[in-house]
Amino acid sequence: MLADSNLTKVRVNESMLELVEGDITRQETEAIVNAANSSLLGGGGVDGAIHRAAGPELLAECRTLGGCPPGEARLTRGYRLKAKYVIHGVGPIYSGTPRDAELLASVHRHALQLASEHRIVTVAFPAISTGVYGYPMEEAAPVALQTVIEYLRRHSEIKTVRFVLFGRRAYQAYATALKALIVDD
Ligand code: ADP
Repeated sequence: MLADSNLTKVRVNESMLELVEGDITRQETEAIVNAANSSLLGGGGVDGAIHRAAGPELLAECRTLGGCPPGEARLTRGYRLKAKYVIHGVGPIYSGTPRDAELLASVHRHALQLASEHRIVTVAFPAISTGVYGYPMEEAAPVALQTVIEYLRRHSEIKTVRFVLFGRRAYQAYATALKALIVDD
């Protein structure tokens, strides 16, 4: 594991799992994942930032999709983003029940399955559900990371998964969780 103050990289079989501190709208991965809501019609936080950066064509395409249930994801083009695609994932609204982790794992898996189906080899994720949806960062991080690690172990077609963490505290939470998962291996 290569760990820096704002970059961590680990190899999972043939693929790389990276943590960076930054803004997901500026990523040059082929796809970025949006932390969307079920309507897919835009919102605040990372969703608002992605729609602003992509331009109004993104909302126009989202309107054709008819929403998306929690735990699933839908793919659109990226329009004015550097990323060619946006994968809109709907995470759980935190409830403090075991369903939270199931849905959080599911939305990560679903987003990666869409990437595989569309032959997308580099994907960036934000910390889904940890903003307005209230999922504590320290609880969300191991679930998100474990799910991605398990997927990459079985799917070498995806070459890089990068978590783009907004701010120091988010980065630290994910870096700490990743260290614990790697040590447990
Ligand atoms: P949710 O409704 O799924 O909780 P939010 O957008 O409210 O979605 O927050 C999800 C996470 O995305 C939060 O940790 C928030 O700090 C982070 N975030 C907000 N803006 C950006 C951005 N431009 N790039 C990456 N992460 C972001």
